[in-house]
Amino acid sequence: MNVNQSAPPVPPFGQPQPVYPGYHQSSYGGQPGSTAAPTPYGAYNGPVPGYQQTPPPGMSRAPPSSGAPPASTAQAPGGQAAYGQFGQGDVQNGPSSTVQMQRLPGSQPFGSAPLVPVVSQPAVLQPYGPPPTSAQVTAQLAGMHISGAVAPVPPTSGLGYGPPTSLASASGSFPNSGLYGSYPQGQAQGHPGAQPPQRSVLPQASSFTPSASGGPRMPSMTGPLLPGQSFGGPPVSQPNHISSPPPQALTPGTQMSGPPGPPPPMHSSQQPGYQLQQNGSFGPARGPQPNYGSPYPGTATFGSQPGPPQPLPPKRLDPDAIPSPIQVIEDDRNNRGSEPFITGVRGQVPPLVTTNFLVKDQGNASPRYIRCTSYNIPCTSDMAKQAQVPLAAVIKPLARLPPEEASPYVVDHGESGPLRCNRCKAYMCPFMQFIEGGRRFQCCFCSCINDVPPQYFQHLDHTGKRVDAYDRPELSLGSYEFLATVDYCKNNKFPSPPAFIFMIDVSYNAIRSGLVRLLCEELKSLLDFLPREGGAEESAVRVGFVTYNKVLHFYNVKSSLAQPQMMVVSDVGDMFVPLLDGFLVNVNESRTVITSLLDQIPEMFADTRETETVFAPVIQAGMEALKAAECAGKLFLFHTSLPIAEAPGKLKNRDDRKLINTDKEKTLFQPQTGAYQTLAKECVAQGCCVDLFLFPNQYVDVATLSVVPQLTGGSVYKYACFQVENDQERFLSDLRRDVQKVVGFDAVMRVRTSTGIRAVDFFGAFYMSNTTDVELAGLDGDKTVTVEFKHDDRLNEESGALLQCALLYTSCAGQRRLRIHNLALNCCTQLADLYRNCETDTLINYMAKFAYRGVLNSPVKTVRDTLITQCAQILACYRKNCASPSSAGQLILPECMKLLPVYLNCVLKSDVLQPGAEVTTDDRAYVRLLVTSMDVAETNVFFYPRLLPLTKSPIENTTEPSAVRASEERLSNGDIYLLENGLNLFLWVGASVQQGVVQSLFGVSSFSQITSGLSVLPVLDNLLSKKVRGLIDGLRAQRSRYMKLIVVKQEDKLEMLFKHFLVEDKSLSGGASYVDFLCHMHKEIRQLLS
Ligand SMILES: [Zn+2]
Repeated sequence: MNVNQSAPPVPPFGQPQPVYPGYHQSSYGGQPGSTAAPTPYGAYNGPVPGYQQTPPPGMSRAPPSSGAPPASTAQAPGGQAAYGQFGQGDVQNGPSSTVQMQRLPGSQPFGSAPLVPVVSQPAVLQPYGPPPTSAQVTAQLAGMHISGAVAPVPPTSGLGYGPPTSLASASGSFPNSGLYGSYPQGQAQGHPGAQPPQRSVLPQASSFTPSASGGPRMPSMTGPLLPGQSFGGPPVSQPNHISSPPPQALTPGTQMSGPPGPPPPMHSSQQPGYQLQQNGSFGPARGPQPNYGSPYPGTATFGSQPGPPQPLPPKRLDPDAIPSPIQVIEDDRNNRGSEPFITGVRGQVPPLVTTNFLVKDQGNASPRYIRCTSYNIPCTSDMAKQAQVPLAAVIKPLARLPPEEASPYVVDHGESGPLRCNRCKAYMCPFMQFIEGGRRFQCCFCSCINDVPPQYFQHLDHTGKRVDAYDRPELSLGSYEFLATVDYCKNNKFPSPPAFIFMIDVSYNAIRSGLVRLLCEELKSLLDFLPREGGAEESAVRVGFVTYNKVLHFYNVKSSLAQPQMMVVSDVGDMFVPLLDGFLVNVNESRTVITSLLDQIPEMFADTRETETVFAPVIQAGMEALKAAECAGKLFLFHTSLPIAEAPGKLKNRDDRKLINTDKEKTLFQPQTGAYQTLAKECVAQGCCVDLFLFPNQYVDVATLSVVPQLTGGSVYKYACFQVENDQERFLSDLRRDVQKVVGFDAVMRVRTSTGIRAVDFFGAFYMSNTTDVELAGLDGDKTVTVEFKHDDRLNEESGALLQCALLYTSCAGQRRLRIHNLALNCCTQLADLYRNCETDTLINYMAKFAYRGVLNSPVKTVRDTLITQCAQILACYRKNCASPSSAGQLILPECMKLLPVYLNCVLKSDVLQPGAEVTTDDRAYVRLLVTSMDVAETNVFFYPRLLPLTKSPIENTTEPSAVRASEERLSNGDIYLLENGLNLFLWVGASVQQGVVQSLFGVSSFSQITSGLSVLPVLDNLLSKKVRGLIDGLRAQRSRYMKLIVVKQEDKLEMLFKHFLVEDKSLSGGASYVDFLCHMHKEIRQLLS
């Protein structure tokens, strides 16, 4: 069938939709009415009679009994069979004897920075998709500084080869601070401290045949795996692009870049450190090079171009001449930000996540719900293996939408439930093909022919399309919801509304820091903002309260009581819930008792001397309470310390920084006991999601405490050394947002694919008891599930590849629903098409998650090396098969991937993979956890922070300033900058900033009077102050967690903290600068090609 949905007319149900509740969460704070009204899922009222009606008696189709509903975690055997399209026995993401995370023999140390002209070029063949507009091309060329056409030309001053701007020398302008020890100034070569990924240099004859090379092999993944966290094989299993012929020879007529020529020559300014290069020969060292001992061994066999016109001494690569993230982001904003993205065309690459755009659903899911690493998939697995580009989708099933975009329609098929394919159980979608006059339909996923039930019958028009196609969301839209029937409910019973249980640590630390008092005070008002939907006047969510230290205290807050009653359970080894009636209550009915309780809690424990806490029994108690109430729900845990009290789940302090960079480093990321996995499994079965707020003063073992939140789809927040006066705003902001979040409970997600590919691996916060169903006790609008696909057959260019993500969940009001997202991708027989339709931001999201899971089982160094190798393979395959012939001295990057090296380097340097001395074990476990569920926009800014100059543009200019590259040499000491990465927010003040600016912003008369480490800007009545504070508020509103501000003065000791985020520079922990890493990548690529 033809899945190309040419833009259909606007469907008649396209009237504006009520706003999704929860999207306007910023309105919290005294406006209960404003959030009370939204009716999120407007029931569809289309013009077709009977559309929303229950089918007439006697005509209703039997419920989809051929497959048990995918609702329950304890599935009947029939339910498994229903999923049988993708053989269950064929364990694709199970523990992996097949995993081969190999060190490839070709790796070189990086750190040397030879001369490499960088050329990014569009792929040569362009059969699919709209060609770039001329504006795009121009902008791209402008951004590249060196195009394919000009690169070989001898240097002129206009080619971006400016005066040498060595990062090392630039860093000399800031003296060292004592915070992180000595800063390796002027050290252009080595990375201090940490090890570069690889030191071995292979003899020149080694060609790239990893499986036969006998290179060091990584130990197979034998470490304990979390349930649902099986380690899929890295996609490096069969790199064979040396031996297999390129699929398509380039024809001269289609080349877009200039003719091959001599490699660009070098400038004469010499940087220290160049002579130190190993082999001395990488770069365009064709002719004799005075400063290089001998040509690089590989170069002898590569290419045949003559040497440069004249040998020149090398020069450091100009940072302005290499691909700039800022430029790419701005170009995309300019080119794609003004028009809505219409999803009607198969395989369209959406605008970047950094571009503001509206989406019009015309048959494929919005990129807010699904983003793919590539929108054009190789037809065969051989091609896919050759390219090494991971095929993955980052899916955010309950993503919140901007107010301008409609929430998915809810379709009600009455008792018959949603229409599905009898064989593969895929849901009705726009890609299903109706045949035989509309009496049957062929499944677009498995090709099975199904009967159309009588109540769903409709005639076809002359093109074979149902005449009601545009009246039905499930026939014309990429995303929609179905009301689920009782068959989709646990125990064949419609669910009760969920409950929230607040579980508060009242041990000494929690009391002393002021946390308990702050929290209780906040809850009094926050309980009015529990999530609600459908215009309900009040939330259906019930609440309960527990406090604990070594024992647990349950509270009866029944509305008929004059005062709350406390029940103490001290037998934490055998947890039970001492009361049922009066524990979970409606907030409005029990308001007086609840308020009284929240007033009393801080007083009751004010004099506590109890320092020990339990943890697992607390979760157990909450879960048992939900079980007793027969509902799903969420536990909000507020916890301060390592649970050392005698109880199940008791932990010991096993933090050991000496393990860093050893084979045992992985244990720091693994839970220290299996007890929490067992507990998590029980929670998932009950639909009990756990959100954990941590307030540690020291090591609390985040890696273990986060197991239950992680496996139940919950969130973890960490406020180290919490003090009310400093951290109150951040904590309360996070808490408010978390409590108000719309959450789907007791959820199961399944991704179906058309024949040829299948989902084989999954990343995120969830649990999996089999290889296909992602189980989520809770799923909110911030969480993503990343799915990797592999070929199991040949794909077809004509029919493309289809994905359908189905999420079954219970809404906040207790309604059982199915949310469906569909996406059609193109398939290609030319590698160039793959490279033209990739999305680097999504690729990085996947690669980071893959690597961050890898550290659970492999030495961190191995993980880093695997990333580098894969990146080199991806780029080498492009160079070999898609790029126009050119000098080996040129680094040629695909246009869509020209930022892959810079972003990958940021992942490699991140705290998880290369920690600095100041990063704690808990910090690393925490970041690892956060990244696992991040969407593409979040990973983008997390790995490459935004750096905004505040005083460059006129004060009157209210638009957000253009970002600059995250490098120290971009900072001017007369300016002020904001830096944010979604978690951290810095305001950097240059030492020579004008006195007037200092006065306007800080209310003090000179730079020296600014308090370093300040976290709140004074509220001053002037334009600059308002503008900067407004900008900060705006940045915070864009992110899912509150970013606490830290004011950093130039040359102050806090500056080292800030510099950690200047990711284009060499890092103190040994991470390479962008320039150095790019050179290293070039070396790796050349080695692969030689
Ligand atoms: Zn099917």
